[in-house]
Formats: sequence, structure tokens, C-alpha cells
Amino acid sequence: MSILRDGTHFRACNLCEAICGLKITVHGGRVTDLRGDPDDPLSRGAICPKGPALIDLHADPDRLRAPQIRTKSGWHTHQWDDALDFAVNGLREVIATHSPDAIAFYVGNPTVHNSGTLLGWSSLLKAIGTSQRYSATSVDQLPHHVAAQAILGHHFLLPIPDIDRTDFFFVLGANPIASNGSLMTAPGVRDRIRALQSRGGRLVVVDPRRTETAAIADEHYFITPGTDALLLLAMLHVIFTEHLVDLGRLADCTDGLQTLAHLVADFSPHNVSARCGIRADQIIALARSFAGANRAVAYGRMGLSTQAFGGLCQWLIIVLNSVTGNLDEPGGAMFTEPAFDLVRMSRSRQPVRRSRVRGLLEFDGEFPVATLADEILTPGPGQIRALITIAGNPVLSTPNGTRLDEALASLDFMLSIDPYRNETTRHAHVILPPAVGLETEHYDAVFHHFAVRNTARVNEPIAILDEDQRYDYQIFAALSQRLGASASPTPMQRIDAALAAGPRATSLAELRAHPHGVDYGPLRSVLPERLCTEGKRINLVPPTITSDLARLAAQSAPKDTLLLIGRRQLRSNNSWMHNTPRLMRGADRCTIIMNPGDAADRSLTDGELVEIATENGQITVPLEVSSEMMPGVVCLPHGFGHNRDGIQLDVASEKPGASYNDLTGGLAIDTLTGNAALNGIPVHVTRASGQASMRDASSDDREHHLAR
Ligand code: SF4
Repeated sequence: MSILRDGTHFRACNLCEAICGLKITVHGGRVTDLRGDPDDPLSRGAICPKGPALIDLHADPDRLRAPQIRTKSGWHTHQWDDALDFAVNGLREVIATHSPDAIAFYVGNPTVHNSGTLLGWSSLLKAIGTSQRYSATSVDQLPHHVAAQAILGHHFLLPIPDIDRTDFFFVLGANPIASNGSLMTAPGVRDRIRALQSRGGRLVVVDPRRTETAAIADEHYFITPGTDALLLLAMLHVIFTEHLVDLGRLADCTDGLQTLAHLVADFSPHNVSARCGIRADQIIALARSFAGANRAVAYGRMGLSTQAFGGLCQWLIIVLNSVTGNLDEPGGAMFTEPAFDLVRMSRSRQPVRRSRVRGLLEFDGEFPVATLADEILTPGPGQIRALITIAGNPVLSTPNGTRLDEALASLDFMLSIDPYRNETTRHAHVILPPAVGLETEHYDAVFHHFAVRNTARVNEPIAILDEDQRYDYQIFAALSQRLGASASPTPMQRIDAALAAGPRATSLAELRAHPHGVDYGPLRSVLPERLCTEGKRINLVPPTITSDLARLAAQSAPKDTLLLIGRRQLRSNNSWMHNTPRLMRGADRCTIIMNPGDAADRSLTDGELVEIATENGQITVPLEVSSEMMPGVVCLPHGFGHNRDGIQLDVASEKPGASYNDLTGGLAIDTLTGNAALNGIPVHVTRASGQASMRDASSDDREHHLAR
């Protein structure tokens, strides 16, 4: 295990998007104190319970620290040179037998939280020469990128809620109290919401569950899953018919207003009310109060993005902010000017390629991950025969995990660059584990981009690696060079160059001189200059998006079925932090929550085991009965299901839960964007036959309810 350096260290937590500053005290090689860094200009001392789990991650005996090769007799530890040669030989064989495109990449979410991975892996992609790329983007935020590109000209030009100055924070399908913001890096978000309310502002939440965020809101409305686009259209209908439109400063560079008025005409509050489950008078009042607020911002996240109309939802969020004069204005939806500027450094490309089996459109060079299993299992020219996974666990995090599990078992070769043998990497022929967490040097190239304040900080490693350990970029470089590529700059060298060329003209050396981070101040108005569209115009009605309205209008209400939605949990981080003892304490968190009326209709009681079934599969979990759920909707966290053979996750296996994605199917996608539609799935819930409740009804339950 790597040795932690004694002393007091300042670095940001890189487990999630909030990038909270940490103050870490190490004595005798052990962390003796870990707390929020009060001098971090973005997080101001805030952390969540996951931050201290970095200590568990560092010490985790299950974490792999040396290469592993799988043989018929099991897994064996190998020297790096042997394992790298083995990996490259496996890849070469697939290329020789098929083609580079027979090798696909799947890149998981933690990649964007580690600059070494984020900026290192493309060297291997280039060395192989494959065009087959998949990632967690298409089970998460792809609709945001599609909408931003169509309206503003760049997929990274995402509007960020200026939560610190708004008077009206309108939240749809998001739970920032549990996430500390997502595509809105807002550490300590509870304090930020308190400040909003104490300056007389309002928090209004629309969600099928009374989430932790809804619980502190000034107003909360239940909404039928999958109908958020209808609600937003109806609000726009009111804003147009009552002449509340005000484009403000950006009127001269905004196109499409008349077309927009025409498009929303059919979506009156009365027309959509029954489908949404929100009264027409409430929709009208919402539209009036949003348009009438001095400074307002609408924000929608996973509940909107991972549904059948995710692209329409994210388009409408930007449109609502725009037509009420809240785009690029303080207190509205603004844009960052990050020191490492992804907008300056890259270009949005029009997608042209379609996937081989289902004809799904690529975005930014990636195909939707919902079709990865199809591409592996369907024979014919172009079939994927090898997979490289990087920091990902798609068996648990992408649709139809059961089928993907089977698909992975059929591959000719699989290489995983990952610190764990998990539900996905157990199929690999070789696992190359990188250093992680406190061991890594990191500049957050992504989440400063989506933060509610312009800041920058570089994070120094606080551990000295074992000589057996490697950084991920060293692994990618070693593989690439064995495949014939020449040496390329390290990720930190690339970051340094980008910082010098960026809007702050800074450097790693300058940032290192500020261990708490550098504060560049609140977000500023940057449009139209920062627009990437032709002529720097905002296109409110891009035809690629508005053409999807017909599909929405034709959608019928599901009948006589419960609809399943996901649930974000404060002490969970997708699928990969379930092996940390401090986060897994207490009662089983993988439970389904159901409204009391729905439970009574099915003669189900709190705490018993129930079976959830869809056309794709079934799982068994404990039931929680709570009025926090909208009638007709049930809720389950994702990322669980640690009960498969061959994993090395001892803590996670003690409370394995069941996988949400054993219920989802690859066919359920937002056809506009290719994002998986994981929310609003019809399910049947029945008593699990012959099984007693395994739920611990101890005082842990209280902790559980507080932590959810
Ligand atoms: S919210 Fe928690 S997990 Fe996320 S960065 Fe902050 S401390 Fe880390």
C-alpha cells in the first residue's frame, strides 16, 4: 500500500462533481483528521459523508494494486511488464483477426474525476485506431450536451444555475441536497439554499418523490415520470399567451421566438394537466411566478435527462430561462469562464455515423451505451470482439445489465484499467489497476466548468506510491507505446499548456502557490461573445430538437402500472463506492419506496421483501412504504447488485442489494439523443414468495432515513 506523507494537506475531493476542498492531516502515515477546507473559495468548508470515505478507499484491502491476469485456475498477480505484454498481445490478436473497430472502449464516470485518466486514455484509443467508443455519458447527461450544441453551438457550453444570486430556484428531477449539485457544481448546497430562502427567494421542486431537496422547498409538486417536457411546454404556453416574454439583453441575438410561440400553442395547461398530474391552475401560477421573479433559474437533471424525452426537457429548460430574460444574467442560468476551457479547446461536430445494429446516432464520437450489448452479441462485419473498460462498471450502470453481463462473457478479449474486480471487470482477461484518490495528482478539468463560481485549484498527491503501483496515464502510455505509438505529453503537461492558453493565462505553478484554490469571482455575463454558433446567435428552435415534439404529443399515458424512477443517495456514488465501510453502515439502502395507497392496494407492508418485475427481468428488495412517493410511482437506487460470482468487493457483497439495470432494457432510450431512458419504467411489484423481511428494523433505520 502507498505511504501517506505526514503533515497537513489541502486538496479537493474528487469523488463527485462537488469538488469540495479538504484539509487532511496525516500523522504516522495515517489520516488523523479529514474535514472541509474553510478557505476553499468554492466549497467554503463544506463536505459530505463521502469525503472521509477517501480514507477507506486508500486502505481498502480489496483494491487492486498490482496487475491481475485471469486463467482457468483463477486470478493471478503479475509483474507490470508481463501484464502489459499480455494485454497488448490480446489486443493485437483481435486487430489481426478482425480489425481495430472490433475493439471497443467503455469509459466510466470516475474518468472525469481524474485528470490522469481523462487526458490519458485517448493515447490508447489513437494507438488502437478504433472508432468504437461508449461511455457513461449516454446513461447520464447526454441530453444537456445535445441541447447546448443545438442552441448555443457547443456541447460544453452548459448553462449553470447562479444559485448564489437567484430569487427563484426552479428544480425539476434533481436532488441537489443529495448530490451537492450535478452539472451545477455547488458544494455545500444546503447552505446555499438556506441563503436563497433567507434573502426572500423561493425554492420550487417538481419531482415524483418528495426528495431531500423537496423536503426543504417552499413548494413541491409531484409529477408523473416522463411528463416534465409537457409541464415546461405548458409554462411556456402561459408565458406566451400572457405576453410575459422578455428576452432582455440577448433579444438582438436570439432567433426563433415566433416559431416557438407556434410550437407551444397546443400545449396549454389544461391539455397537459392530467398527464402531468399537476393542476392547470398550479401550472399557470408557476409560469407567472417564474416569469415575474426578479431573478429566476430553471434547472433539470437526472430525472429529466434519463427519461424518454430527455433532449426535449433540456432544450425547454434553456428556452424557459431564455424567454424570461434569465439566460446569462446574474441569478439566472450563466456560463463559467474556467481556467481550463473545454469550449476553447474543442469543437462540436455534427454527428454522422450510426451504430451498426440499431442505427443509433453517435454524439461527440460516441455511440449510445444502450446498444453496446447488441454490438457485441450480433454477428456480422463490424461485430465488437474485444472491450477495454476504464473506471467503469456498465453491468450495473447501463441498461439491461443482465444481457451485457452475458455479452461480456462472450468476448474474445477484455482489458480493464480499474482498481477493482467488480461486476464488469470480473470478465476481463487482464486488469491493470491504477493509483486512485489521495494518491493522484489532479486538476479538475471538467467540474470547474460546471461550477457556480469561477475558481481553480490543483491537487497534489499526498501518498508515495509503492514501486508496484502505476498512475493511470502511465498505464495508457505503456500500452500505447507497446502498440507502436510515440511518447506524448503527460496529462499535467497538457493541463499546464491549456491553462497558459486559457482565459486566465495561468499555470500549474501559479495554482500550486494557492493550495486552497484561486477565486476568480462569481459568474459573469459572457454572451453573445462566448456563443459558438454561426454569427453568434442563439437558436431557440433547432429543427433537430423540435422535430421530436410530434413523438411527445403522440405519447399515451401508461395504464394500470407502477412507474419506476431512480433515487440518488447521499452516501452512495453510483456503483463504485459500496466497498467503503463507513458509507455502508446501517440498514440496507437498496430498497424500493412505495406510496401507502399503492402498498395497501397490493396488501404489502413496510419492511417485507417484494419482487419488482419488468419485461426485462426481476429483482427482489425490501419495501419501504412512505407518502414521500407520488401515488403510482416507486423508487429504487441504482448501482447495487453486488451478488455476482467472481467479484472482490467484500464490504459491498455483505449488502449486495439488487441492480436497477437488471430491470431496464436497451430498447428504452430517448430517441432524440440516444440517452438511456432509465426513469418512468413500467413495473409490477408483488410480495416475494416465501421470504421474510431481511430488513434490520433497528435504530439504523433512523440514520438511513436521515441519510437518504
Ligand atoms: S460532496 Fe462529498 S463526495 Fe462530493 S466532492 Fe464533496 S465531499 Fe466529495
